[in-house]
Amino acid sequence: MTTHTPDTQTYDVEAVNAAGRRQPLYAPRKKIFPKRASGRFRKFKWLVMLITLTIYYVTPWLRWDRGPFAPDQAVLVDLANRRFYFFFIEIWPQEFYYVAGMLVMAGIGLFLVTSTVGRAWCGYACPQTVWVDLFLAVERFIEGDRNARIKLDAGKWTADKLMKRTAKHATWLVIGILTGGAWIFYFADAPTLLADVVTLQAPLVAYATIALLTATTYTFGGLLREQVCTYMCPWPRIQGAMLDEHSLTVTYNDWRGEPRSRHAKRAAAEGKPVGDCVDCNACVVVCPMGIDIRDGQQLECITCALCIDACDDVMTRLGKEQGLISYATLSDYNRNMALATGSGKVVQPSRVRNPVTGKLVDAIKRTNWRSVIHPRTIVYLVGWIAIGLAMVTALALRTPLSLNVLHDRNPLYVELRDGSVRNGYDVKVLNMAPEMREVELRLDGLPGSTISLVDGGSETAGSLTFTLEPDKVLPVRLYVRVGPESLPASQMPFQIVVSDEAAGITRSVESTFEVPEKRK
Ligand code: SF4
Ligand code: SF4
Repeated sequence: MTTHTPDTQTYDVEAVNAAGRRQPLYAPRKKIFPKRASGRFRKFKWLVMLITLTIYYVTPWLRWDRGPFAPDQAVLVDLANRRFYFFFIEIWPQEFYYVAGMLVMAGIGLFLVTSTVGRAWCGYACPQTVWVDLFLAVERFIEGDRNARIKLDAGKWTADKLMKRTAKHATWLVIGILTGGAWIFYFADAPTLLADVVTLQAPLVAYATIALLTATTYTFGGLLREQVCTYMCPWPRIQGAMLDEHSLTVTYNDWRGEPRSRHAKRAAAEGKPVGDCVDCNACVVVCPMGIDIRDGQQLECITCALCIDACDDVMTRLGKEQGLISYATLSDYNRNMALATGSGKVVQPSRVRNPVTGKLVDAIKRTNWRSVIHPRTIVYLVGWIAIGLAMVTALALRTPLSLNVLHDRNPLYVELRDGSVRNGYDVKVLNMAPEMREVELRLDGLPGSTISLVDGGSETAGSLTFTLEPDKVLPVRLYVRVGPESLPASQMPFQIVVSDEAAGITRSVESTFEVPEKRK
């Protein structure tokens, strides 16, 4: 409101950002002390943790015999020689499209998983989830379950607290070091590098990488925990765009849970409607993200399903059907909600329970594997399989001999005294097999031409012979000369051909022979 007097103007306004009124920009973090959960999803999470950690720590130590001229580490990113080894596959730099293909498959795979089983990646296999789970297991082992940890955290610093905290952080640091240590073994021969690291002979970058990964693992897994998912990771935001009404999400089925009551029997005796939720908070106390699934879908929920385990346990003890919290699709949830509310907006427990048996009525839609199959998942699956098949086919058809040719840009040609014209080429012959190779190099489609090596050797109208070392690139500087009697009138395309007669492999690359302007 604005008030006018003859000389002044007064505004009805509050200084909302005045020091006295200002709210802190970020709410301080409240510590979460998740209680240990038990049940089928917890068991499945232990299994996934065991598998993923085993893969991560053990893979660099697996051996794969590739013969005497190639490393025998099954999975190796050989940065020095620019190779990527994955069991029987060896990727050269010019074959980066395989890596691109794998990345595209990983991307489509994530789309497929998210559109079908929601944020299963976040809940089970994401490194942040796996390591936080591991750190929490260590914390629980040393400090005890939720109540003991809360008590210890709030208590004074005693010898016992100091000892427990030291043991916990020391174990976290050891896990961090092992995590960083395992990572570097993917980039060099693991046994050799381990010996070098232990004897302080390893390159500085190895120690720097271990230090960096130790720090990030300790900080993200031990200290920041759920804050990484909530504030730092972009994936929860992106996933919102991938989920649809047929995607599985961890859902509180309020159509059977509400109205919740801690005194259900008394409320029922008084004739009040009561749902299945006894408001025990067992689902909240196990949540590693510190949320209440009964508030509905939330960005913070990583769908770890521990609240399902907790609630199933409560329902079993109460003699009710499990699944008050369950994996469900939005479309199934909406259908059940419509059934529970009828034409109104209030949940009526009597609409979803048989008054005689007390069981849930058959009209309830129960989510099963068919609920998640819909056109979008089929399109993702077909795309994923198609790219996979294309890559497998390309791998099966690839030849272990390759050729790159680069025509000199400056000068394009040289006119020699006898009237002939010479062009220069940089040729690279790649022997991608772990064995020696004899190859012939010749020209096709350029009559009257001769070839010679820039760094010596006689000129020949036939072919040059080379011995290729295993798993190596042979760079060759080549001159091609055409005499005046055979010179083409204009730029002439031709083929540079390399062949291994013994293996029956021939590769060719088209290039051009450039001639002076006046002849064009
Ligand atoms: S609400 Fe349930 S599924 Fe979501 S993060 Fe918490 S425990 Fe996991
Ligand atoms: S565990 Fe189940 S019954 Fe207990 S509060 Fe959570 S939803 Fe309600």
